[in-house]
Amino acid sequence: MTTKKFVYAFEEGDGKNKKLLGGKGANLCDMTQIGLPVPPGFVITTEACLAYLAQKKKGLDAELMGQIKGAMADLEQKTGKRFGDPKNPLLVSVRSGAAISMPGMMDTILNLGLNKETLPGLIEQTQNERFVYDAYRRVIQLFSSVGLGLGDEPFDDVFDDVKKKYKAAQDVDLDAKGLREICDRFMQVVQQKTGTPFPQDPYVQLEMAVEAVFRSWMGKRAVDYRREFGITTEMASGTAVNICTMVFGNMGNDCATGVAFTRNPATGENRLYGEYMINAQGEDVVAGIRTPKPIRELRPEMPEVYQELEKLRHTLEKRYREVQDFEFTIEKSKLYCLQTRNGKMNAAAFIKTSIDMVNEGLITEDQAILRIKPDMLAQLLYPRLDPEAKVEILTTGLPASPGAAWGKIVFDADRAESKSKLGEKVILVREETKPDDIHGFFAAQGILTSRGGKTSHAAVVARSMGKPCVSGCENMTISYATREAVIAGVPLREGDVLTIDGTTGNVFQGRVPTIEPEFVEDLLVLLEWADEISELDVMANADTPEAVKKAKKYGAMGIGLCRTERMFNQPDRLPIVQEMILAESTDERQASINRLLPIQREDFKEIFRIMNGYPVTIRLLDPPIHEFLPSADELIQEITHLRELRKTIEGMATLPDTLRMLDPQLHERYSANLEAITLGLEELKNKHLAETLIEAKEVVLRKVRALAETNPMLGHRGVRLGITYPEIYSMQIRAILEAAAEHIKSGGRISPEIMVPQVCTLEELKWVHRYVSQIHKEVEKKFRIDVPFHFGTMIEVVRACMRAGRIAELAEFMSFGTNDLTQATFSFSREDAENKFLPLYKEHEILQHNPFEVLDIKGVGRLMMITMEWARKTRPDMKVGICGEQGGHPDAIRFCHYIKMSYVSCSPPRVPIARLAAAHAKLTEAEFSLV
Ligand code: PEP
Ligand code: MG
Repeated sequence: MTTKKFVYAFEEGDGKNKKLLGGKGANLCDMTQIGLPVPPGFVITTEACLAYLAQKKKGLDAELMGQIKGAMADLEQKTGKRFGDPKNPLLVSVRSGAAISMPGMMDTILNLGLNKETLPGLIEQTQNERFVYDAYRRVIQLFSSVGLGLGDEPFDDVFDDVKKKYKAAQDVDLDAKGLREICDRFMQVVQQKTGTPFPQDPYVQLEMAVEAVFRSWMGKRAVDYRREFGITTEMASGTAVNICTMVFGNMGNDCATGVAFTRNPATGENRLYGEYMINAQGEDVVAGIRTPKPIRELRPEMPEVYQELEKLRHTLEKRYREVQDFEFTIEKSKLYCLQTRNGKMNAAAFIKTSIDMVNEGLITEDQAILRIKPDMLAQLLYPRLDPEAKVEILTTGLPASPGAAWGKIVFDADRAESKSKLGEKVILVREETKPDDIHGFFAAQGILTSRGGKTSHAAVVARSMGKPCVSGCENMTISYATREAVIAGVPLREGDVLTIDGTTGNVFQGRVPTIEPEFVEDLLVLLEWADEISELDVMANADTPEAVKKAKKYGAMGIGLCRTERMFNQPDRLPIVQEMILAESTDERQASINRLLPIQREDFKEIFRIMNGYPVTIRLLDPPIHEFLPSADELIQEITHLRELRKTIEGMATLPDTLRMLDPQLHERYSANLEAITLGLEELKNKHLAETLIEAKEVVLRKVRALAETNPMLGHRGVRLGITYPEIYSMQIRAILEAAAEHIKSGGRISPEIMVPQVCTLEELKWVHRYVSQIHKEVEKKFRIDVPFHFGTMIEVVRACMRAGRIAELAEFMSFGTNDLTQATFSFSREDAENKFLPLYKEHEILQHNPFEVLDIKGVGRLMMITMEWARKTRPDMKVGICGEQGGHPDAIRFCHYIKMSYVSCSPPRVPIARLAAAHAKLTEAEFSLV
């Protein structure tokens, strides 16, 4: 080794150089240099560690050891104590600390410097024999297991043995005598296992301890940790070693130890917050033998120290411009700060402290925004399980719609509705849900299904309503007939209580307490700052006036996607929609459509009224129409059931005659009753089992079979449906434009956008545009006003991306439907992928993420970039957005900002998250790159 400087006193190390001094070391240097009361110490650099590991032999290099001894001499001078002095011994801690924090991955040795000779000195100073032997046994064990490589096992065995002997249930139940015995027996273990006594020379101890920390950098735990968290050598190479004077909070009643936050981490209140214990050391707090006291009680107990703590809190915040979580020790009325780091807080506290710190001039608005991770806001938007609750997971399904809820199990939508009307909380439990279950969704607290992925009907509808949903819970079987379910082997009946957590997919038996979202006013202020920074607008996907209201409340700048089929699903409309589908002639169909028109118009009017002037993008009907009808299986079951019932009733009609023939006496006795029953059954048959009812079901079945497709998602849907059934699209277009006209007439402002789904060629768009032009003319004539609107398309088909230049000739705006575009790009059907192979793909890192949740920037994202480039060549001011589910996630938002999209649209509760993420995207744009 050359005479490089390997050792830095806390007073001289560069507090910013984490690479050289490690995170902890740099922080200790920094704290010392800004005048915080850190116990004296020094850092041995990461370079020394690398040099040691490269030399591949035991023992520290003489030059390094010389520098360490020099630093120790300085410590002795600063503390007035001496390393190894029997009367006034200097004790130190030896801790690892790499550039990136790796909690618990490397080794730490405390109380180094204790030996047979220094023990009495410390007992004399502390007047606490138990404490000293406790410290000694810790140093022997740590040192021997780490420094000598003996592991913990032989020491744990001795410990258990002595505890048994003294009938001590826990470590803390042992007194000084028991601990002294442990120390003696530990020494014997070392002698036996190594053939030499426990090293008594403190410098030998120190050298071995430093080596042990150096070596732990390449220990299995640490290597695995770095691999797991992707810590590269550029990020951290080698560990530094921090040697710090030990201070004791347990030397008497003028001593204490504690942990504090510079502000309250639960509420954000600007007041010192924390706990302390008089005459104790850190481990006592952890062991829980005594209850710590709230920090405010320190004020009367040690007024001067409390003032110092107050000063310390301000100094820390001024320096780090962030709420700090710090550890302190008071040794003989002198305050020491041992460590500080950024405080972890809940979302409400983060928001309050952000606003307060801006007002106090501690941070800028930009910094206030950047310190809050957008996803954290979910705490304020969805109910969640109480983190304090003790829970046992019954089973886990797919986290289909975030939030937590509990309620009584019900197995059908009608029951959900009737129970909730009685004020009961219910969870709708089904194998899967269908459009006509919608009233059950409104009534239930949450939805649990045994089948279906994150795009199943249940999942999609629950998300749009902001209700928790766990789908695809394969560990559940349901018997609708007996109204029972078996979940993970546990039988449950209707009325039993269940809790679901749609954020994690977990299901729990019984009630787990939940915490309601705490939408705080301060968030609105913060989001206004965010909006001023961001270049992307945030819109919402919302289909009903209720959802639109919520979107507006969360600050959506418009509705980016209104899926009109969701309006068809409501219970008062579904029968009309079914009539429309089943119509045998155009006239019949037109009659149903005429009934739908005013209903849709009223919905649109209400949405326009709520969004008054903000863009409202209405998508014409998209899904295959068979989705509005019952499934063939269901119909077959119903028809078979009805037929069997009819046969049974017919059989019952002959029962009196059969009885008379077999046993006239018995017939005589029951004849009156039998007649009444037979008449009743006949009436039932005539009323409910008429041929016409069975025939009607058979008609529906024929239609369902005729509409059946092999790949419905790639089949007769979207614009293809609009072209084959022009009446449906025409009705919707008329409803939009008439609603717009009426809204204008009533003095409102308006910005409707008509959006066509599933387009793959300009010709399709032209086809629909012809209806639009015609109807627009008619509406303007009828209302005698100008009705402004925009016409655009979704981009969710790969061919549409490739033809974006042509499509842009007609489309005034484009919205990427990345749910479908991802399916199309990967050729994965989402349901099958999520249920069958995506989990394995993720596990084996064939794909890093589920592309239906996290936008696939490298594939789908590239397609989006090409599309935008070509579209804007034709129409430079083309408004482009994203309305697939990925659009509400911060990573996708960063990308969308980078490629200069105009807006993102997401479900209403994600709007605040997206607004914050859009501001983050702008503030961190310089660091973003496409890899
Ligand atoms: C999409 O495909 O991304 C989209 C928004 O449409 P949907 O999810 O309704 O198919
Ligand atoms: Mg789509």
